[in-house]
Amino acid sequence: MSDTPSPASDKSFDVIVIGGGPGGYPAAIRAAQLGMKALCIDGWLNRDNSPSFGGTCLNAGCIPSKALLESSELFHKAGHEFAVHGIGVSTPTMDIAKMQERKMAVSKANSGGVKLLFQANKVTGLFGFGKLLGNGQVLYTAHDGKTETYTGKHIIIATGSAPVELKKIAPFDGDKVVDSWGALDFAAVPGRLGIIGAGVIGVELGSVWSRLGAKTAILEALPGFLPMVDAAIAKEALRQFTKQGLDIRLGAKVTAVAKGDKDVTVTYEQGGESKTETFDKLIVAVGRRPYTDNLGCDVAGVTLDERGFVKIDKGYKTSAAGIYAVGDVTGGAMLAHKAIEEGVVLVEQLHGEKSEVNYNAIPSVIYTSPEIAWVGLSEEQAKAAGHEVKVGSSPFAANGRARAIESIAGQVKFVSDAKTDRVLGVHMIGPYVSELCAEAVLALEFAATTQDIQLTMHGHPTLSETFHEAALAVDGHAIHSANKKR
Ligand code: FAD
Ligand code: AMP
Repeated sequence: MSDTPSPASDKSFDVIVIGGGPGGYPAAIRAAQLGMKALCIDGWLNRDNSPSFGGTCLNAGCIPSKALLESSELFHKAGHEFAVHGIGVSTPTMDIAKMQERKMAVSKANSGGVKLLFQANKVTGLFGFGKLLGNGQVLYTAHDGKTETYTGKHIIIATGSAPVELKKIAPFDGDKVVDSWGALDFAAVPGRLGIIGAGVIGVELGSVWSRLGAKTAILEALPGFLPMVDAAIAKEALRQFTKQGLDIRLGAKVTAVAKGDKDVTVTYEQGGESKTETFDKLIVAVGRRPYTDNLGCDVAGVTLDERGFVKIDKGYKTSAAGIYAVGDVTGGAMLAHKAIEEGVVLVEQLHGEKSEVNYNAIPSVIYTSPEIAWVGLSEEQAKAAGHEVKVGSSPFAANGRARAIESIAGQVKFVSDAKTDRVLGVHMIGPYVSELCAEAVLALEFAATTQDIQLTMHGHPTLSETFHEAALAVDGHAIHSANKKR
């Protein structure tokens, strides 16, 4: 396979996947592993017009954002934490071009890996656009305009999502008003940065540029911060982010944006007042929309819902026979790991296996500092669902390893069923909780009780001891912290 692949010679496949992001490429690989002849068509083009597999996640989402979060966190530590360890450095400087070069290299290594995996698994991967023609046919248009028609016994739509544009208020201009991709690519640190939307993407990108020196304000229309997060954890997050200098304004609905030569002035309503603020750059991070542009859903009889998501049933079947859909384009949690699982499970089902996705155990992570991670029901959701709950939490301040790595902010909170002792949800804010969350996911997958966790030995000194302590705290057994239970 080359960067400009010639269309596959054989025109007929068991599975044709349209879209090579986390929903698409693992589906194609799993199909090939199961002996199906698989084709994956992906239309992604980087800024330099180079094609690459991996979709939003590898090219303009999860991976590049985590690369920048790491660079900016190290920069922040060099300036604020090294001295505590006795490390002397002169005032650290940041070479933004170098940081961006590294980010690109990280993305490229990952997307190049997908290409190698296709080769290893004998998946035919084509760069270009896929369009549904109906009757099991897909029109492939290569980036040089050449076309070919392929036939698939099963066709999987995995075309993902694109940033929502506030067309009337703040249309993207690729310079001063940008989407998340544009915000990952800034060539210099903006002096004054405005962000519309305090969702996951807004706070992650805000953290990156704020750590690098941008005076950052995030304007959020809703009155509450991170409403999808357990209230105790969200409260702690707001406190920590505010302490770091992120200016998060809640109940602030942006109503107008006026572009000047060198800046943008944002008008927003807050507390019944109309306010204005001027920024050098404005990131619009108000969510993502399903991407089905020019896909031919109408021709093929694939029904979309009122918000444009592809309608599917429990088996990922669309309204058109033989056409399925997975990942962001179908709605639900817009997360790479959810897309991966759906693609793999769908293909296994097509192969006759009894695979399924456990939608009650999808981990969520926000890669700020401290990180936020959770799985299962929050205390509020558990109560609303009729559970009598018991709750326990433990702070990282009581954890030796957390002290050793200068990261004592945060806590782990367990929400368990008071009658059955089943773990219903685990909610965390603190160091590397993105990694600790895997244990909580396993607990939910295996229907663990709080006692199961309490009886499980955790290495010392590790951050996971706080996970253990929080489980102990549910029943008032915590050794290293005050037992916050009820
Ligand atoms: P996509 O990744 O969007 O892939 C779809 C692919 O299909 C694209 O390559 C697109 O070009 C291609 N395509 C579209 N139409 C066609 C067509 N007709 N023919 C051929 N190809 C087509 N999620 C996480 O889980 N963790 C994170 O840390 C995280 N961070 C994020 C940070 C940012 C800044 C952003 C924007 C997103 C982040 N996400 C994260 C979300 C994650 O990127 C998505 O949930 C995930 O990429 C969805 O996978 P997908 O395969 O459904 O779609
Ligand atoms: P998410 O969907 O998690 O990416 O978050 C997007 C956030 O943007 C939501 O919390 C919305 O409330 C917020 N939002 C949407 N439109 C506006 C607006 N005009 N002004 C301020 N915040 C907005």
